[in-house]
Amino acid sequence: MLEVTDLNVSYGAVNAVQGVALRADTGKVTLVLGANGAGKTTSLRAIAGYHKPKSGSVLVDGVDLAGRRAHTMVRNKLVLVPEGRRVFSTLTVEENLRIGGYRASRGAADATIAEVYEQFPILADRKDSQAGLLSGGEQQMLAFGRALMSQPKVILMDEPSMGLAPTMVDSVMTKVREIADGGIAVLIVEQNADAGIRIADDVAVITRGKTVWNGAAADADKAAVHAVLGESAFDENA
Ligand code: ATP
Repeated sequence: MLEVTDLNVSYGAVNAVQGVALRADTGKVTLVLGANGAGKTTSLRAIAGYHKPKSGSVLVDGVDLAGRRAHTMVRNKLVLVPEGRRVFSTLTVEENLRIGGYRASRGAADATIAEVYEQFPILADRKDSQAGLLSGGEQQMLAFGRALMSQPKVILMDEPSMGLAPTMVDSVMTKVREIADGGIAVLIVEQNADAGIRIADDVAVITRGKTVWNGAAADADKAAVHAVLGESAFDENA
């Protein structure tokens, strides 16, 4: 469904990503691990059309969309749930959802909102509340719901557990699994490797802007993954 090869992204003279390869398959969760500054966020933003890559391919359903802008990616069924959730805090929950479904007709958006409320009952309960008044976990659910409003086939998620209480992390991860089980390809960046591995089918490890390991989560020997992440973190501090 999503296949990224040899992705290269720079900020001026800084080559932040230089050889990232990732894939995400329908109904599966691919977990992306890497130390701080490894290039995970940059990769996700480049794939989703928020930052133009220097080179590489981004195949969605076999079509190379590398370098297309975010609205084109959304039209092609790929959407990013950004780091920090970025809900519109002064708008209500339902208004946030409607923004996610802005391309659909009113009737189609109403039907999708009903599905989102079914999947996230907490959002139905809070539909008239200002999004800024929700807890961090509820805002994360809203960010997922808003992404689902565009009826994506691929969802990229950037650190959904960031800043959440441990019990909330479990609920959010369970929702991530459910979203994939609903027939969506999920590519998730997560600092919380243990929580991520519990729900992942596949794992990719990025070190210094490059994919250094790719494989089934069952084969992602924890010690090996931690060794890679630990070593890169150590090098960066050296
Ligand atoms: P973290 O987990 O800390 O968010 P990350 O793996 O997501 O890390 P990125 O945020 O993608 O890493 O950063 C990759 C590299 O690009 C880092 O060296 C970072 O300093 C650099 N970088 C990120 N954003 C910019 C920017 N806007 N301008 C210049 N350099 C940047």
